[in-house]
Amino acid sequence: MAIDLEVFAKENDIKYFMISFTDLFGGQRAKLVPARAIGDMQKDGAGFAGFATWLDLTPAHPDMLAVPDPDAVIILPWQKDIAWVPGNCVMDGQDVAQAPRNVLRRLIAEAADEGMHVKTGIEAEFFLLTPAGDQISDSFDTAAKPCYDQQAFMRRIDVIREISDYMLELGWGAYQNDHEDANGQWEMNWDYDDALSTADKHSFFKFMAKSVAEKHGYRVTFMPKPIEGLTGNGCHAHISVWDAPGSDAKTNIFAAPISDKDQTSELGLSEKGRHFLGGIMKHASALAAITNPTVNSYKRINAPRTISGATWAPNTVTWTGNNRTHMVRVPGPGRFELRLPDGAVNPYLLQAIIIAAGLDGVRSKADPGRRWDIDMYAEGHKVTGAPVLPLNMLDALRAYDDDASLKSAMGDEFSAAYLKMKHLEWNDFCTHFTEWERANTLDI
Ligand SMILES: [Mg+2]
Repeated sequence: MAIDLEVFAKENDIKYFMISFTDLFGGQRAKLVPARAIGDMQKDGAGFAGFATWLDLTPAHPDMLAVPDPDAVIILPWQKDIAWVPGNCVMDGQDVAQAPRNVLRRLIAEAADEGMHVKTGIEAEFFLLTPAGDQISDSFDTAAKPCYDQQAFMRRIDVIREISDYMLELGWGAYQNDHEDANGQWEMNWDYDDALSTADKHSFFKFMAKSVAEKHGYRVTFMPKPIEGLTGNGCHAHISVWDAPGSDAKTNIFAAPISDKDQTSELGLSEKGRHFLGGIMKHASALAAITNPTVNSYKRINAPRTISGATWAPNTVTWTGNNRTHMVRVPGPGRFELRLPDGAVNPYLLQAIIIAAGLDGVRSKADPGRRWDIDMYAEGHKVTGAPVLPLNMLDALRAYDDDASLKSAMGDEFSAAYLKMKHLEWNDFCTHFTEWERANTLDI
């Protein structure tokens, strides 16, 4: 039975609900609703003017309603009389087909019809910056290889500890935090979960990390490459598929005994796991339009070597065993890690595109191709026949547009709306004059 939010408010002394939805660009938008009005809002939804929602709606469209998903409600740990609740976008009594959470819900249902329940864990890297956002917040954090820097960690422990405490309080199974490979960069990990729950937690994590950092006088960014020359913000996804959702899951259907050669399982991936991976490999260039959604994204995946010595980001469509220089790593039996997504990825579309590409792989029995057990940073030139990832956002959008099966799996309305909005963004970028142009063209 779904939670009754009116009762929930009384039991937990909630004064306000923040009814939230995520737009096509990954932005979170919300209305703050007093608890006295939540009963009606739970039934009818909170109203938004469609044109203002970044969901490719016009001023002529009727109100869009975000209908709260009561089972996903989260009390803000830093302001306990307010609860956040993600909404499902509805218009004229129908789901808004292009709304990211609806796209994901539809794909989860499709996978479930085929007995597949995707679980994922994500690693949302971020930087702690000064409020202006143009430099890292800790001027002492200058080491060339700052990964796991204990002293730099200590200088920001108030922020990281507070966020970690909140994740523990929320029961997310928080299990580790570290200073990452760039100066000013962090990663905080919590347990994997069903795709929709992970998407909701990913959204809430971004909201929480930003809110806590702002309280401490800093600014969090998930921007893929916020500082030239330093490692960028990835959002690696660890993927497995199970026989049932939630705590009913008993069998990981990606897992196979490592010794079982009949299941082509030299890395502990079952035949279904290999086909799912095959779908990700087959659609990689196109799905980059979703996993690497911004102009800036392509400065992470096609970056020159960083100050620390590695970008930790792929530039070619290859997979391997436990080796972080490839687009896909199979670190152990029964799961694989997609290292392509970056911090700008829309939490709902990330999960949706994984399921869309993976399902297509299973249905078409896609072969992931040969496994390259080499150091891609040192020996990448030896790879033959593997596509190079898109060099920029326009290439990625074109690859997505050319991939008819992925477009239709994500939904025709969604794909049309997404391509339209992202092409507008690309065109806007192209009309802006840059200092690079002046420096390289002035004296020609
Ligand atoms: Mg990391």
